[in-house]
Amino acid sequence: MVKQKNININLNRQQFVSSIVFINDIKEIVSCLQKNNLAKKVFIISDSNVAEIYLSKTTKLFKNNGFVVFSYVFKAGEKQKSFKTLIDIYNYALKCGVDRQYNVIALGGGVVGDISGLFASTYMRGLSLIQVPTTLLAMVDSSIGGKTAVNTDNGKNIIGTFYQPKYTFVNPVFLKTLDMKQLKNGMAEVIKYAVSFDEKFFNQLSYKVNNSVLTDEDFNEIIFKCCKFKADVVNRDERETKGIRQFLNFGHTFAHALETITKYKKFLHGEAVAVGMLFVAKLAVKTNFCNKDVEPKIKDLLESFCFDLKPKIKCDIKDLLNLMKKDKKSVSQKIKFVLPLKIGKVASNIEVQDKLVLKTIEEILK
Ligand code: ADP
Ligand code: ZN
Repeated sequence: MVKQKNININLNRQQFVSSIVFINDIKEIVSCLQKNNLAKKVFIISDSNVAEIYLSKTTKLFKNNGFVVFSYVFKAGEKQKSFKTLIDIYNYALKCGVDRQYNVIALGGGVVGDISGLFASTYMRGLSLIQVPTTLLAMVDSSIGGKTAVNTDNGKNIIGTFYQPKYTFVNPVFLKTLDMKQLKNGMAEVIKYAVSFDEKFFNQLSYKVNNSVLTDEDFNEIIFKCCKFKADVVNRDERETKGIRQFLNFGHTFAHALETITKYKKFLHGEAVAVGMLFVAKLAVKTNFCNKDVEPKIKDLLESFCFDLKPKIKCDIKDLLNLMKKDKKSVSQKIKFVLPLKIGKVASNIEVQDKLVLKTIEEILK
């Protein structure tokens, strides 16, 4: 009989560092790539709105510095975060002769970042990826940490990979052309970090917004802080296996259910997350996970940023519960909540009785 043995393949992985670089001008992207000897070939992916404002300037900059540049622009909108768009990008890249030496540049918000990441991780088994986020939400969240995805008819971000960008270039100047609604969308994720990780930051945000003193400098600091929170979490739990990366899901379970039940037409992601954060605050008070004052504190800050916390939607609350049970983070139909313990600290993997969940949904929607 052959004695069973284990065979280990020692993958001699090279140390890979994903860097977040803070810049004031897109010129700095070109110089950083040159300094670090990346191939002078870029494939820029963008959406129609962002491309209209920034693509020709970006292309010119690369070309003037001796880069070969190809670009692909798709129609703006979450609907385009689909297999169809991904396949169109593969075909276009092949037609242009994009090979493995090319750096994929994702120039845009979360939609562009997610689909470009999936393209970069799969085309010819992987090209280097550079994220250039242009929305607040993408700067503080989706462009960092290596999650890539497209949506299917059955759900958001259902198909995707973990694929770290070589660089994320954060340039707050892009926010000058972003409308208020989109800025507020990103603020929901900022508030998520404050509630989850940092009471002082939470209080600073409250003070600043209530005294109308959010300057450009404040925004730079807010973005820097949030990138640090995100990078720290990803460093400790890249693949979401240790319960740490789940912290970033604070407010998201109910938010995803709201987004899905309204077919992604009623809420921007951040708007749904704002309601979702109030929802878990209520749930945490009901289950004695936190003191009663946590709920009004979170509610006040969200209201200071003018989030609508009483959305009018017509649906059966049981359908919302069932959608939460189908969430990617649920296990065997058991919803795993992230609940606040206090301002600045959350706990993950918490199960709550259906009865209480339903009662809380009712309270939010009544
Ligand atoms: P998110 O980062 O919230 O996922 P999207 O990728 O859906 O955002 O982008 C939101 C909208 O804002 C899209 O219509 C996109 O084209 C537009 N957009 C992104 N960045 C900018 C910018 N810097 N200036 C103007 N519009 C932008
Ligand atoms: Zn989010």
